[in-house]
Amino acid sequence: MIEKSQHVMLCGEGAELFAREQGFEAMPASYFETEYRREQLRDVQKRNEISLDHNDHKYGTVGCVARDSRGDLAAATSTGGVTNKHPGQVGDSPMIGAGTYASNTGAAVSATGFGEAFIREIVGRDIAAFIQLAGLSLEEAVRRKVMVDLPPIGGNGGVIAISATGEPVLMFNTPGMYRASISEGGEVKIGIYAD
Ligand code: ASP
Repeated sequence: MIEKSQHVMLCGEGAELFAREQGFEAMPASYFETEYRREQLRDVQKRNEISLDHNDHKYGTVGCVARDSRGDLAAATSTGGVTNKHPGQVGDSPMIGAGTYASNTGAAVSATGFGEAFIREIVGRDIAAFIQLAGLSLEEAVRRKVMVDLPPIGGNGGVIAISATGEPVLMFNTPGMYRASISEGGEVKIGIYAD
């Protein structure tokens, strides 16, 4: 996006038009329908609930944060979605500053979890602001949002984040979060449950 347009964010039909202009293939909505997800929908509709696409161990989100050799930070989040949501509901994942955020002097952050709480807590931007304005380390800033601010309002989930100096922090307040990181030297860390 940053290479192909001057805009930071596009949505709806305009975003789809942009994707087609860039040569991406579009699939009909039916392509994304699976019996597994239909069953999930029927199940939560029966209980008149709204739920995340997750099981006991994981949320369905895929997120990525990175720092390149010039020191530019980037974040991206593909949500696992919310089942039985009201049409028009917007989660935290596409909301810049909430579930996805990057600022070179702060941090890059990608979140997963109960999005409504992550929006209320403006998680990504707050983490960067704690670093820029309050002098916290990335670890301290992430801990404050994930372990202190989110749990009281039902904000189950976690974030992956990387600092301006390339230090990764992967933290969650749930039993597990599928995660991995790789450093400049090639050191790989992979985890599912708490360390
Ligand atoms: N945070 C996402 C949302 O509320 C859910 C997820 O983790 O996939 O949209």
